[in-house]
Amino acid sequence: MMNDCIFCKIVNGEIPANFVYSDEDVAVFRDVNPQAPTHLLVIPKQHIASSAAVDKDSGVWDKLLGCAVKIARELNLEEDGYRMVINTGSQGGQTVPHLHLHLLAGRNLGWPPG
Ligand code: AMP
Repeated sequence: MMNDCIFCKIVNGEIPANFVYSDEDVAVFRDVNPQAPTHLLVIPKQHIASSAAVDKDSGVWDKLLGCAVKIARELNLEEDGYRMVINTGSQGGQTVPHLHLHLLAGRNLGWPPG
């Protein structure tokens, strides 16, 4: 838990969020500024600053990606498709320094990204 981290505050209930899923390790909630009809954030509950800070033996990737794919299936996003994005660092467009995976769906998503 990092005191001044918005996503840590969401995890501990200090800041409200629209949760879709939560377990011991992972939380999924709706992005406050959605970029697609479905825009979820999948985060580790443990504070990890970015994808670059993930310990490769921690199992974090299994949990985050596994959870995102499961939620996508449960929300019936597979047929039309979806996109998973992890912005990392300043040029990667990361604005919140707590690891999060964006799960986007519900419209045609452009490529290449902006
Ligand atoms: P990124 O730019 O990849 O770091 O993504 C951060 C995302 O967090 C953005 O899409 C924001 O809209 C979203 N966000 C910021 N604050 C909140 C919040 N309090 N609740 C839900 N989503 C948030």
